[in-house]
Amino acid sequence: MKILPSTIINFHAVGDSRWFESVLKLLLQLYRPVSSDQVYDHVSGRVKHRHSCHLTFDDGHLSFYTTVLPLITRYQVPVSLFLSPDVVESGRNFWFQEVAGFNPALLRKSVEEVVGQAFAQQALGVEALLKLLPVDQIHAVIRHYQQTHNLAPAPRRNINLAELDLIAKSPLVTLGAHTLTHPVLANETDTRSRDEIVQSVERLSRLLDRPVTTFAYPNGIPGFDFTQREQESLQQAGIKMAFSTWKRPLGSCSDILAVPRKSLTTGRPLFVAFKLLAGQHYYTLKQFLAGHDEVTQRKNLLKKK
Ligand SMILES: [Zn+2]
Repeated sequence: MKILPSTIINFHAVGDSRWFESVLKLLLQLYRPVSSDQVYDHVSGRVKHRHSCHLTFDDGHLSFYTTVLPLITRYQVPVSLFLSPDVVESGRNFWFQEVAGFNPALLRKSVEEVVGQAFAQQALGVEALLKLLPVDQIHAVIRHYQQTHNLAPAPRRNINLAELDLIAKSPLVTLGAHTLTHPVLANETDTRSRDEIVQSVERLSRLLDRPVTTFAYPNGIPGFDFTQREQESLQQAGIKMAFSTWKRPLGSCSDILAVPRKSLTTGRPLFVAFKLLAGQHYYTLKQFLAGHDEVTQRKNLLKKK
């Protein structure tokens, strides 16, 4: 029975194909799957649809090719995939994939040595702390850690050009841009922020030999991770629709360059169903139980700066 309001779901890496298949089956029971173009029609008010769902995948993780593509093909579900042309071409990992295997205490020490002791001592998880820095400084911290601990870069985590080529052939997949190096755009200078957006769109369009008209912000909370400055760059780059990570109902969306999405990463189908049914109340409850969240902590730190 389809009773839930239309929504956009966001995934990143999908490690477990059985989990993804069970979630896919649940979503198909609860919603009518729609394409990126249909989401555009809905959000821009041209053709409204009810109980619809669009699936999006950020980063271009290898699991999209190995796990997601076969299943969306079997169940004929249209999706969007947002990636960095720089990462696909170079085989380098995103900064957060590189630090994922680091020891948190030693990583904090590298932050301390590269950025300064006072900064590193902030009461914040080390990955959240890195999200306060411009991306070049994050890479300086990573180089420092790798040199200090004699560590090589991690193996490739994302799709390469040959895999992108095969994905691009699927009529079910709409490909969109996701910057070059995955910075928190609001931390960057005007020039760097614009280049990350415009160059990612141009390079991906060239790679695919077709226009790229959709985008997903890294992190992606409006007014915090990105602002009107980024939205102007998107318009310059010819982007028609951009996805945020704003956990608001799709029905309340009036900004086609900040379309809200709900994120799904783990959980049995029953929990996933609860999360979808509870909608906005799930996030209020989660924050209430935790007493805080990473974004509130980052906001508080920025206020103190
Ligand atoms: Zn991302």
